[in-house]
Amino acid sequence: MDKNQITVVYGENPREMVETLLAELKPEAALRPGATIGLKPNLVLDKPAASGATTHPEIVEGIIRYFQAKGFTNLVIMESSWVGARTEEAFRVCGYGELAARYGVKLLDLKKDRTITKETEEGLLTVCAAPFGVDYLINLPVLKAHCQTLLTCALKNLKGCIPDHEKRRFHRLGLHRPIAQLAAVLPVHLTIVDAICGDLTFEEGGNPVPMGRLLAGTDPVLLDSYAAALLGLTVAEIPYLELAAKLGVGTTDLTRAVVTEVNPEAKQAGRFHLTGRAKQLARYVEERDACSACYGSLLHALHRMAEEGELEALRQHNIKIKIGQGFRGVKGEGVGIGTCTRAMDEALLGCPPTAWAIRTFLRRVLAD
Ligand code: SF4
Repeated sequence: MDKNQITVVYGENPREMVETLLAELKPEAALRPGATIGLKPNLVLDKPAASGATTHPEIVEGIIRYFQAKGFTNLVIMESSWVGARTEEAFRVCGYGELAARYGVKLLDLKKDRTITKETEEGLLTVCAAPFGVDYLINLPVLKAHCQTLLTCALKNLKGCIPDHEKRRFHRLGLHRPIAQLAAVLPVHLTIVDAICGDLTFEEGGNPVPMGRLLAGTDPVLLDSYAAALLGLTVAEIPYLELAAKLGVGTTDLTRAVVTEVNPEAKQAGRFHLTGRAKQLARYVEERDACSACYGSLLHALHRMAEEGELEALRQHNIKIKIGQGFRGVKGEGVGIGTCTRAMDEALLGCPPTAWAIRTFLRRVLAD
């Protein structure tokens, strides 16, 4: 797989989506018969994936089924929840206990794993041994916001591969530098991002936003840089990305990204059940048959703008942003997001546009 390649699959069925993705990527081509495969989801705490906090178990199920069908039976799901949460409880609540039993796959609580130390430019790092003991490690983060680092995705998910005392030390060090160092020592071969309904504001869920896609790649820095744009963020706002790039983990240069959408036709209009903050932001939107990939980008952009105090103009002028396939061919005054709204006076093209592009576009329109 080319390091600059980012592969995107859309849809509503996580298991089918990941099987489509793997059929495209063919990761087994790089593996010897009998290879051990580690799967590292994000089970930060014991909340189901629908909350926006944790990796959908159906994604892990799809990966297991795919590899088992190819003759690879040595699979292990490994994770340690954040400090204060019990990983075993997260395995149970998030559906991984039942999943592992059904497919005969090992579940490993990394809080109980042996640790080893790795030398980095900034001293010794204590890490769990198991991620280093597999032949092929697949990182399975959720694309979501984080209250301290703004983004949590590929690089930050690796924090589940260190013991609790090291997690506490990471926080004392301000997270960014040690996250970059960890990424430089951990051998991740493939990252598949669960961008189905990651959280809008915090890593612990509660404000899931429909994004309707999976992303995959072998350069976690490039993938995170792309993911940042999907949340309406810039690389500069997430210092660990440039730090990791300087350590040779990957590149933040999005002009090098070769993005392949495997099934663009699968961007289906959904019926949205929004809660919490996402529901509040939806007051600024007139949605007609929008795809989740598009609507989610808009909600992330509005959230970023609200944080910067940039939504006042929408409030004052009672502007509702138009989005969705129901606006195809609809002409007239209004502000539209996505290629479907191209007939409107002010429209941002893209199918779907990123939250960053939406944020930039709305800033310009509201300033006029
Ligand atoms: S532009 Fe239209 S078709 Fe494309 S993602 Fe948005 S709503 Fe869907």
